[in-house]
Order: sequence, then C-alpha cells, then structure tokens
Amino acid sequence: MNITITTTDNSQLEHINFDSIPLGRTFTDHMFICDYEDGQWKNPRIEPLAHIPTHPAAMALHYGQAIFEGMKSTLSQKKEPLLFRPMENAKRLNESARRMGMPDFPEELFVDGLKALVGVEKGWIPPGAGSALYLRPFMYADEPFIGMRAATSFKFVIIASPAGPFFSKPIKLWAEKEYIRAASGGTGEAKAAGNYAAAIRPTELAKAKGYDQVLWLDAKEHKYIQEVGTMNIFFKIKGTFITPELDGSVLHGITRKSVIDLLRHKNFTVTERKITLQEILEAAQNGSLEEAFGTGTAVGIAYIKEIGWGDNTIPVSQEHPVGKDINATLNDIKTGGEDPFNWMLVTGNKLV
Ligand SMILES: *Cc1c(COP(=O)(O)O)cnc(C)c1O
Repeated sequence: MNITITTTDNSQLEHINFDSIPLGRTFTDHMFICDYEDGQWKNPRIEPLAHIPTHPAAMALHYGQAIFEGMKSTLSQKKEPLLFRPMENAKRLNESARRMGMPDFPEELFVDGLKALVGVEKGWIPPGAGSALYLRPFMYADEPFIGMRAATSFKFVIIASPAGPFFSKPIKLWAEKEYIRAASGGTGEAKAAGNYAAAIRPTELAKAKGYDQVLWLDAKEHKYIQEVGTMNIFFKIKGTFITPELDGSVLHGITRKSVIDLLRHKNFTVTERKITLQEILEAAQNGSLEEAFGTGTAVGIAYIKEIGWGDNTIPVSQEHPVGKDINATLNDIKTGGEDPFNWMLVTGNKLV
C-alpha cells in the first residue's frame, strides 16, 4: 500500500532542547494513521500531528478495545536511523489484536509506516548517548456504537516522542499479594490498554510505601513471580539465569527474548521456568542470589536492589556485572555496533 505523506510547514523541531526533554510529553511534528472500514485497512498516511476527532460513543472509550506497542529508533555512528527488531513488534501487535477481537494490521505496512515516519522525523532522534526516538504504535476501536460486540471500524496510529538518556537507578519492587495483573485465560499476554489501567492503583499504593514498581505474582496462589510494571524479570542464582516462563500471563517482551539470546551468546545458561518468591528469598538468605534485573524497551535493563512484601525484604547485590555488560552490549547494537543477530533495520528513507 502506498503511504501518502503530507508534511507540516510549522515544525516545532527548532524549539526542542535535546538536553532536557520532558519524558513522554514532547511529540514530533507528524503521525502515521490508517483507517479500518468495511473489513479492510485503508488510506495509510503521514500527516501533521493533530487531534483525532472522536465520537463520544467510540467503542474504545466504553469497552476498551485498545492495544499498543512500544519501540525506539536510535542513530548509528553514521547518523542513520535504526529500528530494533520492528517485525517482532508487528507480530506482537497482531497477537494482542486477536486476543482483543480486533483486526490484524498488515505486518509489512506496520514496518513501512515506522520507516516512513522515522524518515520524516529523522531530525527528532536525539543525538546523545542513550537517547532515542520512542515510537508508540497503537490501535483502537472508533466505531460509535453502544452494545457489546467487536467494533467494525478502527484506527491504527503511530506517534513519536524524543526521549533523553535514561539513567536507570536501581529500583525497589513491591511483591503484590493482594492485587493481580494477569490470570490464566485473561489478557496478560496482550499489550492491551486495560491491563495498565488495572495496574495503576496497586502501583500507587506500592509507591506510597516507598517502592518504585510492583512485582506481580500469579493470580491463584500469589506465589509465582510473573513480571514488573512494563518489564520482564531475570534472576542470577549460582551463575545461572532464570526468568519466568511464558505461561500465558506474562507479556512476551522483545527485550526479554533478546537478553536471553545475548546471555546464551555469552555462554550463560538461561532457564525459563516457574519461579517462586520463596525461592528468591532463600537464595538471598544463603548468598546464592547474585543479580536481579528487569528488561523492557523503555529502560533497557533496570537493576533491582530490593524486593519487599509484608515484613519481608529481599536485598539484592548493588553490583550487576552481567546486567551491566548486557545493557552495554544492547546499547552498542542499537547504535550501530556489531550486530551478531542481525537485529537492526537501517531506515531513514521516507520514500518507501
Ligand atoms: C511492554 C511490556 C514489557 C516489555 O516488552 P519489551 O518488548 O521488552 O519492551 C514487559 N511487560 C509488560 C507488561 C509490558 O507491557
């Protein structure tokens, strides 16, 4: 499908100070947008960023048919824009769409839309080390209808937001024994808007107790570790890495998948299996818990320094030698360094 490009003559780029970008509040000049009507995706286009008129009965507002993706474009040493494994996001968007009764979005068009948008917004990719242009593809039901069924009209949109270097300071996690994020058969695997709405209140309560994020446990026994906020989780015990298996309630993180590949590439053993909070507590007590970190697009790797619940505290070493090495390798790959897995897509040509 041909992407029509209409550019603005009122660019805001010159007003941006890349040394202090308010996170998540600054948006580029344009957006990619595509409409789903009569059973097909139509009119893919890049337009100046603007409000999208919405009928008050738009089904996404009432029944929550809304999903999203998150990814970043970085600059190579030669200043070419790069995308990290965009086809993985295209596939995951469609897995989310199927779970939520929404139409697939063509995977090629997803990647072409990203390439076209990044091409138009090249100047918005912050040049500093650790900076990136955050890309937010999303899909929502815009059919005006009151009644419970799948909508018949949708919008797919990509917006972009420059993000300065993210200094991930070690975080404290609250292991949540009352509220849950995902249950077997639920929507935990989908990047569905409602999952995040349900996490807001427990996260606020954890923050009020002095923690940074919630560590989610299984819905039935509150015993098995799932993941953190918008990150998957890894532990290093006696030299081996473990991460919760993808059991239907854990988001299929692309950083998770990539970190598993990188750890194995560096000759570590990585096991995907069920992990109890108790096991981590015991490993900390007998001195075999060596590292713990979260993985996700927003921060890359976030080092965990403590996990708490009730009156319990699991301290984690402040040193994360392997986590730091993996983070450095990921950042190097994302900025045009050696790319042993062929993950990076070079882009920047707006004529797709
Ligand atoms: C997006 C997300 C992740 C991380 O996925 P990445 O593809 O690595 O960014 C992990 N958990 C949840 C709940 C998420 O929404």
